[in-house]
Amino acid sequence: MLGTSVLAIAITFMMLASCAALGGSAPESPAARQHREPPRRVEYVVGLTDARTQTISVSLILRAVPPGELELCLPVWRPGRYQILDMAGTVSGVFARSGDGEPRDIRKVEKATWMVSVAPGDDEIIVDYRVYANSIGDRTRHADDSHAFLSPASVFMYAPSMRQEPLVVRLIMPEGWRIATGLERDPGDASAIVARDYDILVDSPIEAGFHDLIDFDVDGTPHQIAVWWGGVAPGDKPSRRGKLFDEKKLSEDFTKIIRAQRDIFGSLPYTRYVFLVHCYQGGGGGTEHLNSTIVGCSPAAFEEESRYRSFLTLISHEMFHTWNVKQLRPAGIKPYDYQRENYTELLWVAEGATTYYENVALVRAGLITLDHFLGDIGGLVDGDRKRIGSSVQSAEESSFDAWIKFNRPSPDHANTTVSFYDKGAQLSLVLDMLIRNASSGERSLDNVMRELFEKFPLSGPAFTSRDFREAANRAAGVDLSWFFDRHVARTDPVDYESALRAAGLEVSLSEVPARRTIGAAFEDADGGARVSSIESGSAAAKAGLLVGDIIVALNDRRVRGGEAASRMNELVAGATVELTYFRMNVLRRVSVALQEAKGGSWRVRRVGEPSPEQRRIFESWTGQAWKE
Ligand SMILES: [Zn+2]
Repeated sequence: MLGTSVLAIAITFMMLASCAALGGSAPESPAARQHREPPRRVEYVVGLTDARTQTISVSLILRAVPPGELELCLPVWRPGRYQILDMAGTVSGVFARSGDGEPRDIRKVEKATWMVSVAPGDDEIIVDYRVYANSIGDRTRHADDSHAFLSPASVFMYAPSMRQEPLVVRLIMPEGWRIATGLERDPGDASAIVARDYDILVDSPIEAGFHDLIDFDVDGTPHQIAVWWGGVAPGDKPSRRGKLFDEKKLSEDFTKIIRAQRDIFGSLPYTRYVFLVHCYQGGGGGTEHLNSTIVGCSPAAFEEESRYRSFLTLISHEMFHTWNVKQLRPAGIKPYDYQRENYTELLWVAEGATTYYENVALVRAGLITLDHFLGDIGGLVDGDRKRIGSSVQSAEESSFDAWIKFNRPSPDHANTTVSFYDKGAQLSLVLDMLIRNASSGERSLDNVMRELFEKFPLSGPAFTSRDFREAANRAAGVDLSWFFDRHVARTDPVDYESALRAAGLEVSLSEVPARRTIGAAFEDADGGARVSSIESGSAAAKAGLLVGDIIVALNDRRVRGGEAASRMNELVAGATVELTYFRMNVLRRVSVALQEAKGGSWRVRRVGEPSPEQRRIFESWTGQAWKE
């Protein structure tokens, strides 16, 4: 308890120091004075001066709270990642006090819920705590000597009874740090930001520290890119940002993406947008937010052309979410319940349509070639047809079970599940083609997305599966219920050949010799080849091999994970391999008859002689001329 009291005193001191620095002897401007009176009922004071130890201190100040028990929570997940992350696990030193420093009882009642005793006469109740910020890959909270990244759901407790209250966040930062966020600044305090309510705060990550800032304007709307370079010591310029890190080109390429997507929806749903970029070795992935995004990338993104394309694909994906999921939200995740799983059968639209459009937007923006684009379309067909789980789990089931399957995959996941990202992109492609074909090229999935955006604004209701289906039927001008019944709710195989013909495309399987295999994947472990997955119905499954078995010899010759598959492929078709393996440290042997696995990939290419309608559909779809 001593430690927390000392922390409380330290934070009080920091708050006073902050106020002194703010006010000093200079008179406040009328705008600042107006803004500061009366104080907001919810205020966070965030101490980042210990960021170098990955420790963030937070004081949550609540005002005008009625006496009695007050419930406080920290979310157990964060929007954009449908997985229980239990961020309260890194909260410590929780201490409650009144505004004049008297300790108040605070006790935990659930894993992420506390009850505070508010005494009569307490004009303020202050809850101090620390957050260990060591988690960058999941984009929740990370700090070091060069920055602090705060995904608010991971850092800021809230009182459910005050969730709608306007709030202010004051940051106490090391010398030279600056702030990048989609939130508005407090006009009276350069180190403070304000939000209309807790939901807006949660959807607005905060990056504080040293970062490059690139400001640009898209047809009158301001945009900003903030790039933090991981691992670079404070004060040091990154020695080499990569030859592709060109501020002008970055803003031009981003602008092309934004315009291509705005043209689908008709307008930008924000007045300012911020791209937060974490560039560090191994960085990747992104999360959409209200008028900002946080994306990770590796330094190679600014060194190799192909990696830069992948980075733009990620930007395109997160940007598309600004409409699809941040504005028009599926039933089940609106409003967010931060303390439990939020179930929806529509992640195949929220994530899948977004995945489909990430490349559609890039080809329309002229940022990838037609060959590249058609290669990705072929990849969708190939991915669907090679996924065993495609015949087991529907797009709706994959969406609903995101919390326990996609985001917590078992070694058997390829046999029993699909990704709502991939399946959703595959179904979006087919639906787009069906609508274009049925409407003779007059309408497309673009019309569906735009109608939903206009009919289901953030301030209104969520959209349901039925709403989506009806919008698709309206765009097509025919009843597409069969598509939703068979391919969205069930797992019937998709006829890509017929669908893609609308745009003058044909589907074929590339000719590659068959491989000899046992239908398992391996990884290097314990000096052997550890079985990491087994295809259902394969030779390995029939022979009784299990995930986790460690194969140490193949036909009495030592084998390792990296070479097991190629050693089997070198044998003749129909041969039997003798495998010696450990299971739970017991040595065993088994004979497995090799199976033949079809080689080759499904791909998509343009027909030789398109009809005028095929050509027209292709050109309006890609925004590019048909020319071969
Ligand atoms: Zn996404």
